[in-house]
Amino acid sequence: MPAQNQISLKDDETGNPNQGYSKPIPCGKSVGEIKALAVATRKQMEYSPEIKFSTVLGWFGGKLVEMADWDELPKGKTEEFRFANSSIFVEDERDFTIYTLEMSDTQGRRFDIAHELGHYILHYLLPRSKKEENAPMKLMACRNLGGDEESEANWFAMAYLIDEELFRDKCQEYNYNKYLLADYFHVTPIMIVCFGQSIGLFQEEPV
Ligand SMILES: [Zn+2]
Repeated sequence: MPAQNQISLKDDETGNPNQGYSKPIPCGKSVGEIKALAVATRKQMEYSPEIKFSTVLGWFGGKLVEMADWDELPKGKTEEFRFANSSIFVEDERDFTIYTLEMSDTQGRRFDIAHELGHYILHYLLPRSKKEENAPMKLMACRNLGGDEESEANWFAMAYLIDEELFRDKCQEYNYNKYLLADYFHVTPIMIVCFGQSIGLFQEEPV
């Protein structure tokens, strides 16, 4: 008989603390391959910096839920998810929900959503399309300081949100001003710097 103060991890009838959801496993693709997948996804979804994410996610059967408070998160109520900026729960190939907080800044939120989309493409659709043995039935993920799967989702997000050719043009037009570039691409200035450095356009942080 368990001790009275024993904390049970069981939170559903199967006794699985993750409620049947798998956590993402790194896809192992190179940065170049991940970027190519992100670009293909962006083009397929006809993404542009002005478009609403709720519209582009609908293309894949996904939903966006902007919560006032994390207490509204219906699943994954663990510390890891509670303190993440965003999370995703994938039920099926055309059925997933991305959760973000209403109060976080719009530019940062676009990165968070693109990051979760990266988990869906790289860690759900990809292993399933290759019929991998450990391909998930359902997936749950969030933004955290995890391992390679988090870096992969970050690379995806960056390449998804910023078109490299357009970025080079706009750098000329805005004289490499990271704030004007951030306004144009609807991302944070930090991300502009990271992207510029990743394609070798910024040697050091621009003004
Ligand atoms: Zn993540």
